[in-house]
Amino acid sequence: MVGSDPTRGRNPQHYIRLEYNELPTLADVGQHADGVIICAQFDAPHWDGPDGPQLALPGAPLRGFELRHEVERLSIPYFLEIETWRLTELEGDDDNELKRTARTHIARSIDLPVTHAKLGNPAEIDALCRAAIESQANTEQVIAPYFTVRSHTDPWLDASLRCLLATLELLPDQQVAAWVRLHREFALNGAAELLAKRYSAGFGGRCTTLVLTVVEMNEVMQDEEALAGYLRLVGAFIAEGFDVIVDGVGEFSPVAHAMGAAGSISGTRIYRSSRLNARHDGGHRRSAHLKYLVPGRLERMPVVDARRRSQAGSIPPCGHTGCRALLADATEADVRRHNAHLLTYEGRQAYRLGPGRFAERLRREGLTQSRRWAQALDDAVDAGAARADA
Ligand SMILES: [Zn+2]
Repeated sequence: MVGSDPTRGRNPQHYIRLEYNELPTLADVGQHADGVIICAQFDAPHWDGPDGPQLALPGAPLRGFELRHEVERLSIPYFLEIETWRLTELEGDDDNELKRTARTHIARSIDLPVTHAKLGNPAEIDALCRAAIESQANTEQVIAPYFTVRSHTDPWLDASLRCLLATLELLPDQQVAAWVRLHREFALNGAAELLAKRYSAGFGGRCTTLVLTVVEMNEVMQDEEALAGYLRLVGAFIAEGFDVIVDGVGEFSPVAHAMGAAGSISGTRIYRSSRLNARHDGGHRRSAHLKYLVPGRLERMPVVDARRRSQAGSIPPCGHTGCRALLADATEADVRRHNAHLLTYEGRQAYRLGPGRFAERLRREGLTQSRRWAQALDDAVDAGAARADA
């Protein structure tokens, strides 16, 4: 049965998606998470003047190449989120609207916008995949170019699978990771088994890591049926042998770990969810109030309330050594560190407990959200069992 393997020996990996200027958690990231994700749009020069790419001025925030250099200097494991789906939304090579997306090495390998017709040409695919490989020289694993998929017959699905195959052919001795980015309506309504089979067919075990993004999952976090559909999708990919890394589901990610997900990616402030369109990235409100994740409950709470209730003993303390999130002089960075180490810890617990015992634990919390999430977990396990029996 999916998700009930008692021999799970390894901790699931939790990665923090770095924000535009994520220094607060960088130096000590190893104490709070297992690694980081750098967005490709940050991995580009600040500007291209007459003398070519420029680095930041001394003392300026680390962005662009310097951010990656710093991550490498600190030996932090990382993936580059190559974001090739964004290249379909650019209007041309000089379109600077999507921040520095058009200036990344990958974007410069192909005429913009990327279309699936262009990717019908083997030379274009080859150029794009080579640039993607070059950009990911020191990362945990090379991710093949990928695009947002809306249906089983979407040409972007074929384009994504062709890019995965081409990348595998360019790297005959290496594992290559797939990033699967799905439209939510498609992902949660029966896409699971067929899609997982299409990804597993033909890749001969050389692609085992699979990052899963379902866009705008943040809008259905209280919808039991949608969440069960999401977990069923996770379970379907696991059943096909993939190590699934769930992305953009925030505090729900431990539930996916209970289902057997091998990794998770979350932002600590913005980037907690994934938008459908790159041009609507403004929806990541930087001014949004940062909330505190309550230990054991996977519930977010305003920091002032959490401080008061923690002092009153009505919520459990964080067990992480040196956690400063609820001290009177705590900074936003302290709360972000807490949210990162708490998700890492809860994810490991959930993974070890497995779906049945984790669902029991969620029900014991007695919160409406916990009950919904427990029910979604039970439903997804039942769907997996029914699939295995079929
Ligand atoms: Zn903490």
